[in-house]
Amino acid sequence: MAQSHKIHSGRVRIVELPVTEVHSHGSGDVGSIKTVIVELTTDTGITGWGEASPWPVFTGTAEGNANALSRYFIPAIIGANPFDVEVLLEQAEKNVVHYPEAKAALETALLDIMGRVLGIPIHELLGGCHRDQVRLSFSLANPDFEEDIAKAERLHGDGVKIFKLKTGFKDHAFDLMRLQRLRDKFQDRLDLRIDFNQGMTAHEALPRLRDFESFRLSFIEQPVPRDNLEAMAHFTDVLTTPIMADESVFNPREAFIGAQMRIADIFSLKIMKSGGLRRALNVAAIARSAGIGVYGGCMFETGIAHAAGAHLMAALPELNLGCEFYMATYYLTEDILTEPFPVRNGYVHVPSGPGLGVDVDLARLEKHTAQTLQVH
Ligand code: MG
Repeated sequence: MAQSHKIHSGRVRIVELPVTEVHSHGSGDVGSIKTVIVELTTDTGITGWGEASPWPVFTGTAEGNANALSRYFIPAIIGANPFDVEVLLEQAEKNVVHYPEAKAALETALLDIMGRVLGIPIHELLGGCHRDQVRLSFSLANPDFEEDIAKAERLHGDGVKIFKLKTGFKDHAFDLMRLQRLRDKFQDRLDLRIDFNQGMTAHEALPRLRDFESFRLSFIEQPVPRDNLEAMAHFTDVLTTPIMADESVFNPREAFIGAQMRIADIFSLKIMKSGGLRRALNVAAIARSAGIGVYGGCMFETGIAHAAGAHLMAALPELNLGCEFYMATYYLTEDILTEPFPVRNGYVHVPSGPGLGVDVDLARLEKHTAQTLQVH
């Protein structure tokens, strides 16, 4: 009979990491990354890693997620079989509302343990590998646009051909000027998209959005606040450029409503919104049934959450618009993995080793840890 494994203990760390530059968004500025790293250990000595990456203006706080994990979610699974991941996550849903990032971290660590026990990568636990590499998108969000142009040129030389311009944090003329400069400089050698991070009101949005139609954008992301589903549906109806929902679609229920109301042509998938990889697959299944595309989004993450996201990307039946797992390579001053997160020639390469397929550099993790919460 196969050896049994039980969750023996857990550790939760709030980690603060410096970044290379300030990034501005329609919902605020980011000048460093505060994230939550979860470590689960079995009675057989196997460790699984997970990450909860909240953004207070979007999903929640690091402190809230760290406490939810150390006081509720991890104590509830001590002694449990990590292979009961669906049962355990359903209990977590029932026991504590919200905290999708904490639930994603918990699931990632359980899947990491399962993969390490079986000697297979997480995407095989999700049904297999549809693709082993995904085109990378980098987000241009520096208020100093001259620095962004220089960065775009440098990354283009690295093979990065997708750029997402963060819009709506200054004025409309600034957004149009930046798009014109990018198109003038790179013509169609770039795949360009824009993201408002909810930064416009509905009444000001439509005339501005019409001005973007001529820039051949592959999508316009979340122009208005998440609850304004009617405005999202209207833009999707009347604009030629595809509309993408990010903040408006967190979980399968919201995907269902969003598909019914046709609030977008594309949904951004994020494990931090859906509460894990398998819930993100549920969102993707609803999108696919409705003829809505999906995209690989992320929050402000280290290589741990990026790796989890990469396994999700591998397991998606359809994915045409790439993913944005650029933080570990191009945004953090220093990541916490032993080997660099695998980005090469503008592609994210899906890890093929057991579990997450990446390992944590404990010394670097300790160096950036602001607070540790031990469970058992
Ligand atoms: Mg977004």
